[in-house]
Amino acid sequence: MAEHRAKKRFGQHFLHDQNIIHRIITVIDPKHHQTIIEIGPGKGALTFPLLEHLDILHVLELDRDLAQALSKKYAAKKNIVVHCVDALSYDFREISNQHLHIVGNLPYNISTPLIFHLLRYHHSIDDMVFMLQEEVVDRICATPGNKDYGRLSVMVQAHCHAEKLFTVNPGAFSPPPKVMSAIIKLKPHNIFLKKIIDPPGFAHIVKLAFSQRRKTLRNCLKGALEKNQIIDLNIAPGARAETLSVDDFIQLANSYHEENQ
Ligand code: SAM
Repeated sequence: MAEHRAKKRFGQHFLHDQNIIHRIITVIDPKHHQTIIEIGPGKGALTFPLLEHLDILHVLELDRDLAQALSKKYAAKKNIVVHCVDALSYDFREISNQHLHIVGNLPYNISTPLIFHLLRYHHSIDDMVFMLQEEVVDRICATPGNKDYGRLSVMVQAHCHAEKLFTVNPGAFSPPPKVMSAIIKLKPHNIFLKKIIDPPGFAHIVKLAFSQRRKTLRNCLKGALEKNQIIDLNIAPGARAETLSVDDFIQLANSYHEENQ
């Protein structure tokens, strides 16, 4: 590939550490029949080792220069489909509506909205393995009472089992990012979703509850749920959102739904 200057606006930090690349591929554990989608293949650090294991690999790359270079580089290979698209607005069901495996060293500048976008397709996804900023991985995996626990933790954990696997130093990338990175595995499940009556209402209540971190639940939910409704659910209205479990949020959201039918 001709020399490509990393573009900051696309969050480009290219992996070059072969040991880290090998560890990520081991975690992904690609099987030839699987439908794997790589988000942000860049110059192909993960793409080439993945291709060796797969009948077909779909890659989504927003940078036209990189997408073209990848298409050229792999022109002789029949098992790669390069989609020059924005993963943030991509409809993943265009590839398949079941058993998707989604992987990638994600552009950190859009990682949170991208995760929220992917949650919409959780019924179609078997698992996801991503490199993210370590701070974002810690927020996703945090438990109630932890300082990192917030809207992102509740929303991801309501849809997926989340596991932090290992950390990656900035030196593994070129150019190196300013932050530590980590690998996370997300496995969609239905444990919580089957209890949620109205998913958009759930998302609304979680957003409201964390809208003002210093305020109590009662204050944050003013206009949506009354103090007595919160007490009826055995939840303290004076508590702060960061102390509530995913199940507590489901109860609040279901009560909100019943009131607003
Ligand atoms: N996978 C490569 C690696 O590990 O070396 C590159 C990773 S780099 C952190 C992120 C990649 O995502 C870049 O190639 C960037 O151009 C691409 N990208 C950025 N925003 C994107 C978007 N919205 N949709 C798809 N790809 C995007």
